[in-house]
Amino acid sequence: MDHGVINARPIHFNHENPAMSTTAQPRLFGEHFLLALTADERATLERMRALCRDQFGPKAAEVARQDTFAWDTFRTLAREGIVATAFPRDYGGSDARQVLRTRLIEEAARVCSTTASLITGTDLSTRAIVAGGSEALKREIVPRLLTGELQSAFGLTEPGAGSDVRGLRTTFRREGDGYVINGRKKFITRASTADWMVIVGRREDDAGTFMAALVPRDAPGLSISAEDGKLGWWGVPISSLELREVRAPMSHRLGEEGEGFSLAQDALLRARIGHAAMALGRAMGAVEIAATYATDRQSFGKPLAAHQGVQWMLSDMVTQIEAGRALLNVTAEKYDRGDADVAVYASMAKQHATDLGMKVATDALQLTGGRGYLQDFPLERFFRDAKLNQIGEGASEIHKTVIGRDVARRAPLAERNPCLRPGSLVDY
Ligand SMILES: Cc1cc2nc3c(=O)[nH]c(=O)nc-3n(C[C@H](O)[C@H](O)[C@H](O)COP(=O)(O)OP(=O)(O)OC[C@H]3O[C@@H](n4cnc5c(N)ncnc54)[C@H](O)[C@@H]3O)c2cc1C
Repeated sequence: MDHGVINARPIHFNHENPAMSTTAQPRLFGEHFLLALTADERATLERMRALCRDQFGPKAAEVARQDTFAWDTFRTLAREGIVATAFPRDYGGSDARQVLRTRLIEEAARVCSTTASLITGTDLSTRAIVAGGSEALKREIVPRLLTGELQSAFGLTEPGAGSDVRGLRTTFRREGDGYVINGRKKFITRASTADWMVIVGRREDDAGTFMAALVPRDAPGLSISAEDGKLGWWGVPISSLELREVRAPMSHRLGEEGEGFSLAQDALLRARIGHAAMALGRAMGAVEIAATYATDRQSFGKPLAAHQGVQWMLSDMVTQIEAGRALLNVTAEKYDRGDADVAVYASMAKQHATDLGMKVATDALQLTGGRGYLQDFPLERFFRDAKLNQIGEGASEIHKTVIGRDVARRAPLAERNPCLRPGSLVDY
């Protein structure tokens, strides 16, 4: 492994009690989650921390200056084995547990949303290949995806189907030994750099049968639009796709016929956990910056942080972030164990963390006054990047609906609160 690009300062790591480990100075946010990691996992996290401190953090503003693909960041993540954490060991990956991946993403987002989104985007764009590709397809592609030699994109959203993905209109027509695909896809991250596109649609002759297939970028009939300008998340561009009579051989189908929707949900599940980690990591970074300003800056004869109103803002932000990190950790553990209710927890973690992330970015910017509004100051970037986490991989309102529906489904079956009399509550 080439560490030549890293100018790493030593980390004093206490393997007996990782919560007591120190970098140069202790962190503002709790390190207690390190206790759940193995020594190997902690070493991976240490490597990520060194990269963030020496490379991704200092270069974040430059990377986010224009919305072109951040090749250097991506290649570093691939070379350092961080991309490989998303892939099974059978194909050369390190198949990291979510309890580690959430920490890696949090670290990255604390300094650079681009870096974090290149990690979560790997889950979104490759998971359906790993979960649904034939053995031969996986042997051909996965080892090259995890080294960054190849990239893929995930084509689910359409002009007419975003939140309501069951409204997909892309069709798969069975012809010969394969399928002919027609449709349009919108907002597709990395489409301009991906070698392969995961396309989700439905059978032309049976709308209830969802399909997924892998299509190469040079497939006849596939057009990739110019990149769309956007508010934030610069360094990971998006484009639209148009598929006109695009042929995909049977060997490129992902999963069985009818499994397209569940493959997409499986990819979204991991990506939602990643969005939560990204939102919380960015929020942590925003509070660190705002707290530094509040202790530095004098107003009305004392430091900003000595004013009770400012302390209350800092208190709300730190407490809510730590609560969000606890929920995220529970969700990551559920994913790693394969708990049946992980999808609802992923919705809770994503909705809570991303709405909180937007609020914290707003409040942290407020606390830094006019400087927070300057392009030269990191919070302007944090503020713009925070918004997408509330929209991508299911908007907050969709997750609230998922969570609320689950409560309504379970409540009649759940243990009744013993304060209540038997019978209908209408009889009170
Ligand atoms: C930068 C970026 C990158 C993306 N990358 C990808 C990608 O790689 N692959 C991919 O397939 N997609 C991608 N997307 C698409 C993204 O997942 C969708 O934008 C998102 O799911 C919302 O869909 P929509 O934009 O069509 O919003 P709409 O479905 O039009 O919804 C608009 C808003 O209406 C509200 N809303 C919708 N339905 C309900 C409801 N039932 N109840 C209450 N409120 C509701 C929500 O607030 C929602 O934000 C990306 C989007 C962006 C902006």
